[in-house]
Amino acid sequence: EIVDFNLFLNRIIDRFEMTHKDEVEFIRNIPEMAMFSEIAVDKMNQVLDNVISNAIKYSNRENKRVEFHVKQNVLFNRMTIRIKDNGMGIPANKVDRIFERFYRVDKARARKKGGTGLGLAISKEIIEAHNGRIWANSLEGEGTTIFINLPCETLGEDGWDE
Ligand code: ATP
Ligand code: MG
Repeated sequence: EIVDFNLFLNRIIDRFEMTHKDEVEFIRNIPEMAMFSEIAVDKMNQVLDNVISNAIKYSNRENKRVEFHVKQNVLFNRMTIRIKDNGMGIPANKVDRIFERFYRVDKARARKKGGTGLGLAISKEIIEAHNGRIWANSLEGEGTTIFINLPCETLGEDGWDE
């Protein structure tokens, strides 16, 4: 399905905002213009659900913040979505492992927070099936940023620009 990814993302954030209003501040740095992408809507929902849930779940702060940033690379018909939190972060030597099946940084704490440790492994599979890439950047005690790079196009005046 071809969707305006910015609209799609805004709707997901709206949903989280409704249920976490008192607990989390959501900051949107998302272009006004439409950015079209061909996605499996349910699967992409699953990816963003997990990434945003993680951003909220792995934070002990009073003032949780999740920041969204979407940037288009017109030249290559790609876009990068950045989801940044101010949570507990991940030790440098463990960041790359969070996309492995069942991997959890702090087993004891993770068990308390529920889940299986599959969320990011599944997200990675889904993103790669979309010809995309997903990776993370993190600073322990400061927060984590998840990057997702996906194909996209802008719609021209008279249809798809080739
Ligand atoms: P599930 O998603 O299956 O409910 P989960 O959240 O533990 O369980 P993943 O989403 O795959 O599994 O995340 C793997 C691990 O990576 C988490 O257990 C956590 O230790 C770490 N992690 C993921 N996102 C963040 C984040 N935003 N901040 C800090 N740690 C994170
Ligand atoms: Mg998760």
